[in-house]
Amino acid sequence: MAEEEEGEAGGHHVLLLPGPMQGNVNSMMKLAPSSSASLPHHLSHHRFHPPPPPPFRRHPLSFTNLPQPRDQDHLRCLPDDHPRSDRNALADLYSSMNSHAKPLIRDIILSQTAAKPKITCLIGDGFFGGLTADVADEVGIPVIHFRAISASCFWALFCAPNLFESNELPIRGEEDMDRIIATLPGMENILRCRDLPGFFRGTETNLVDPLKSTVFDCHQTLRARGVILNTFEDLDGPLLTQMRLKFLRVFAVGSLHAHLNYRRVSDAKTTPSTSSFWEEDRSCLTWLDSQPLKSVLYVSFGSITTVTRERLMEFWYGLVNSKKRFLWVIRPDMVAGADNDERVAAELEEGTKERGFIVGWAPQEEVLAHKAIGGFLTHSGWNSTLESLVAGVPMICWPCFADQQINSRFVSEVWKLGLDMKDLCDRDVVEKMVNDLMVHRREEFLKSAQAMATLADKSVSPGGSSYSSLHDLVEFIKSASR
Ligand code: UDP
Repeated sequence: MAEEEEGEAGGHHVLLLPGPMQGNVNSMMKLAPSSSASLPHHLSHHRFHPPPPPPFRRHPLSFTNLPQPRDQDHLRCLPDDHPRSDRNALADLYSSMNSHAKPLIRDIILSQTAAKPKITCLIGDGFFGGLTADVADEVGIPVIHFRAISASCFWALFCAPNLFESNELPIRGEEDMDRIIATLPGMENILRCRDLPGFFRGTETNLVDPLKSTVFDCHQTLRARGVILNTFEDLDGPLLTQMRLKFLRVFAVGSLHAHLNYRRVSDAKTTPSTSSFWEEDRSCLTWLDSQPLKSVLYVSFGSITTVTRERLMEFWYGLVNSKKRFLWVIRPDMVAGADNDERVAAELEEGTKERGFIVGWAPQEEVLAHKAIGGFLTHSGWNSTLESLVAGVPMICWPCFADQQINSRFVSEVWKLGLDMKDLCDRDVVEKMVNDLMVHRREEFLKSAQAMATLADKSVSPGGSSYSSLHDLVEFIKSASR
C-alpha cells in the first residue's frame, strides 16, 4: 500500500494533540510508537505527528543546581503571578487552552493541507473534548478522543448529571464523606463520597465550575468517532461494558507503556524513550543497584501535586520512623510556598542518608521495574498507577485531586493492590502503612500485584485484548480517514 494510494491527498496522517501536562503527554505520546511499531504491517503508512511545540523547556535537576520553580514550570502558558496550586492550575490551564488554542490547532491542520500527506484524523486529548470536537468539525476530519485519566474517573464524570438528578450528589459536607454511592453503573456500591473524583468535592447545589467544564468535556466525547482509554479489559471490564452502551467505539488499548516494554523484550535493539519535561536523575538507579531485593519504597507524587512544608515533614518522619529504605522524588516546585526549595530538600537529605535517597525527578518506569523496589507510595495519578501495576509493585495511595481519589479506591478495594491513605497525612499513619505494605502484609500484596502484572502483560501480547484493540483502532483510523 503506497502512501499516494491512501487518503485524499496521499496517506493517512494523524495529528495527536495531548494537553500540556506531563501525565497526558507521557501516555498519549506512547500511542504513536505503540501503534506504528507493534503493528508495523498495519501502520507503515500512518504518520503520527507530535503536538505543537510545547510551552515548556527541560532543565537539569540536581540538588546543587535547582532551577527556580517559575523558571522550569511546564505550566508556563499561565501568567507569571499565577499561584499554581494543583487545583487552580488545572482549572486555569483548561480555560487558557480553550480560549487560545483553537485557532492554533486549526492553523496546524489547515497549513498541512498543501503538503502531502494532509492531516486526515485528529486524536485529541479529551481534557479539551469540546475544543477538539469543534476543530475537527470545522476542518471536516474525524476526531477520536484520548482520555489520559482512568476509565473509572471518566465514567464517573460522564454520569455526574444522573447522580445529581438521583440526589446522590452533591456531597453534603465532611460528615457525608463516607456515604456509599449506589447507582453508578458498573461500579455500584463501590465508592464512598470521598472516593469520587476530586472535582466533586464541594457542597454547592449546582455543579461547581471545574466540575462543570470537565463533565461538559466528557459529554463532548459523544461527538467523537470513538474514545481511547489507557486501560485493559481484565482491569476495567465492567466499566467498559457500560461505556460501550453510550459511545460509538471504546478502544481499551492500555497499558500503552507496556506495549513498548513488550517490544523492547522482543527487540533488544530498541532503546527506551522519554517524554519527561524534567531531566531524569539516573543516579538513583545506581543507588538502587546496591539495595537488597524488594527492600525499597519508591515515593513520588507525580508532576503537578504540591504539598505544604508541614505535610512534607509528616511524610519524612513517617518514612524515617518506618525504618524502611526509600527513594523519594521531591520536585523543586513541589513544596507549596517554600521560598528556598533547595534548602528543604538538602535538610531532608541530610537526615535521610542512612536509608533514603532523594532526587528531583526520577526515571520512574525504570525505577518501578528495578528489582530493589518493593512498594510505591504514590499520589495515584493514572500513569503512576498503571506503571506500578504493570511492574507488579504494590501501592500506598495518597490521592490529592482529579482522578486520584477514585484510582486509589480501585487500587485498595477492587484490585486489592495496596492501601489507601486518602485524606490522612500523619507521620504515624505513614509509618504504619509503610510497615503493613513492606512487612506485615507483604506476601499478600506482592502476590496480587504479580497476578495483575501478568494480566497486564497478557493484554499487550499478540492476541491479548489491548493488542487487538490497538489493531482495531488502526483499522478504524484507516477506514475513517479516507
Ligand atoms: N514521572 C517521572 N519521574 C518522576 C515522577 C513522575 O518520570 O520523578 C512520570 C511518571 O512516570 C508518570 C508521570 O510522570 O508517567 C506522572 O503522571 P501521573 O498521571 O501519574 O500523575 P500527574 O503528574 O499527571 O499528576
